[in-house]
Amino acid sequence: MSQAKLEQFRKEVRKCLTKAGEKYGLEKQMELVKIRLDIKGYRCAGQAVRKGFQFSVRFHPDAIIKHWDEMVNDTIPHEVAHTVCQMNPTLGRNHDAGWKRVCRALGGDDSRTHDMVFGDKPERTECWYRTTTGELVDLGPIRHAKVQKGASYRARGAGRIQKDGFVGHTKPDASQPEQEMAASTKAPEQKTVPKSTPKTKSGSKAEQARGYIQNLIEAGQSKEQLLTDKGIHAKHLYAALEFGTLGAARSCFVANTNKLFAK
Ligand SMILES: [Zn+2]
Repeated sequence: MSQAKLEQFRKEVRKCLTKAGEKYGLEKQMELVKIRLDIKGYRCAGQAVRKGFQFSVRFHPDAIIKHWDEMVNDTIPHEVAHTVCQMNPTLGRNHDAGWKRVCRALGGDDSRTHDMVFGDKPERTECWYRTTTGELVDLGPIRHAKVQKGASYRARGAGRIQKDGFVGHTKPDASQPEQEMAASTKAPEQKTVPKSTPKTKSGSKAEQARGYIQNLIEAGQSKEQLLTDKGIHAKHLYAALEFGTLGAARSCFVANTNKLFAK
């Protein structure tokens, strides 16, 4: 059933491409635009892509199924308007006034954000620290990055959080002391301690990286700041997502930061 819906959606996209072609004298070019329903993740519902002279519009299949009306009425004209402007930049660029005019002419509203919920939101990466008094604290990724650069924070009533207190991205088993102390003087404990199971995370590395970066953007970090701190963020992603090399984590971080700021 959802397959039929997706096929119907393709027809709606084609209709809008045809309309745009007629309106802006781009009939031939619009015929060649590829329609791809292959966006993953949870943020991006649509995307207009240009590679040389190959144009495509991409959409998130889960958003189509869950938010049909908004996708058809707003997201299609939004992306097709980008394609029109990519083909003829004198009409508009990015989300400027010219693009808005094209978007409205195609029947869309010209807002650039949506409040649709779809896809799988990756969980926030945890950053666990042991404070100077031995408490366990989970810092957010921003403060984690700052602490790794040398900042320190006061943990409410529990000493300070410092760089060397970082213990990892999964919560250490709180019932096990950090150091085994004088085990021989104690009778061995019979208690079976449940092992903390590693969190299962959904989504590809890139998606999870984007979730991480998105948290930073939502907290007000600029592209410049993010790229300046790329070394720290790369180390973080390297540890959290098991990249093969630090370099791979760094390229992933840079590529996805650029991607998130490209729209
Ligand atoms: Zn846009």
